[in-house]
Amino acid sequence: MATYEKLEIEKIRKDFLILNTAFKETGRTPAYLDNAATTQKPLSVINAVEKYYKEENANPLRGLYKLSVAATDVYEEARVKTAEFINAEKAQEIIFTRNATESLNLLASSLGDMLLKEGDEIVVTIMEHHSNMLPWRAAAKRHNAKVTYLYCDEKGKITKEAFEAVMSDKVKIVSMAHVSNVLGVCNDIKTFVSIAHKYGALFVADGAQSVPHMKVDVLDLDVDFLAFSGHKMLAPMGIGVLYGKYKYLEAMPPFLAGGEMIETVTLDDVTYAEVPHKFEAGTVNAGGAVGLSAAMDYINRFGFEQIEERENFLTSYAFEKMKEVPGITIYGSDDAKEHHGIITFKLDGVHPHDVAYIMDSADVNLRAGHHCAQPLLKYLKTLSTSRISLAFYNTTGDIDRFIEELVNLRGKMGL
Ligand code: PMP
Repeated sequence: MATYEKLEIEKIRKDFLILNTAFKETGRTPAYLDNAATTQKPLSVINAVEKYYKEENANPLRGLYKLSVAATDVYEEARVKTAEFINAEKAQEIIFTRNATESLNLLASSLGDMLLKEGDEIVVTIMEHHSNMLPWRAAAKRHNAKVTYLYCDEKGKITKEAFEAVMSDKVKIVSMAHVSNVLGVCNDIKTFVSIAHKYGALFVADGAQSVPHMKVDVLDLDVDFLAFSGHKMLAPMGIGVLYGKYKYLEAMPPFLAGGEMIETVTLDDVTYAEVPHKFEAGTVNAGGAVGLSAAMDYINRFGFEQIEERENFLTSYAFEKMKEVPGITIYGSDDAKEHHGIITFKLDGVHPHDVAYIMDSADVNLRAGHHCAQPLLKYLKTLSTSRISLAFYNTTGDIDRFIEELVNLRGKMGL
């Protein structure tokens, strides 16, 4: 039996109520194919958050009474579990944020302030989500530094040679998507990290599209920082993660200032709390952290070997059928295995927004637009595309519904 067949999908799907709830208007359940935007949440996550608010809620890290201690405990347990999940050396290397965007802004601000001076360079790729491009551009501007763009080829591959060509002693930071939210390609982070380190540059990986789908081991990759969002990996919205090597987090200045991030404050001076609290100003999202904890438990029940194999199977299934649709252009690699659940496409003569609207009338949910990666789309010579993105709980039935609509779509548009 293939590993993906070991996953009892019908049983798993019962955990995701939204996937089993028919729309009143149509009587159909959704074929949810927008998982790169956000995933659905299993009952165990929803129940864990409910339990936290019913039984354990108080302001964590502050009070000396039982409820506050309980809230602190569950919050810090989530930190330990997150560290284990990505194989960080210490729990203190995990900073909770709102999402990957906030993690990357924190870094661009604090790491930028620590490292950058006039004439320095930051390397980002052309395939970055705006969240991993705009914060670095702002940091470069503040420090009279420069952003250098690293290009992929037209199929989305970034070669070692292309990477080496942009590296020099001036480069202080490299920030790169692990998996692209448009092309689905998985960049060879491990090789790039080792090259970046030879030049003395620090390496930031945007793991928003990798951490939910594959085993990401920060020690093995040797990345200096990793950013990701809970809501793309079964957890609630509003909880994100920044991993950083302790020695750098310790040296970096704080991002936001306020409660809980200080040791002492006088009218003239301030000393900061230890890492990670130095980077977690204000009341933290304990309920979100509890949800993230439950989401990681859910993923750990199956493990990434099974999840990856199932998602690869679904990606190949969709890819092969999509390739046969008349008038379709698929962006990125010709090999389904390089897509990691993400297939971005265009249909001749149909605006991507029309694709999404018409799909919605059949309760097939997908994304249309620029996917927050306008420079990449311009490089690919388009303004807008449609995208399906898969999760392990999707079925071939979901994909069949999508393909059926796709085949009929041009006819419906009178083409
Ligand atoms: N990076 C990548 C590669 C993404 O796909 C996304 C979300 N689409 C983000 C960053 C930003 O994630 P969030 O909106 O959760 O901050």
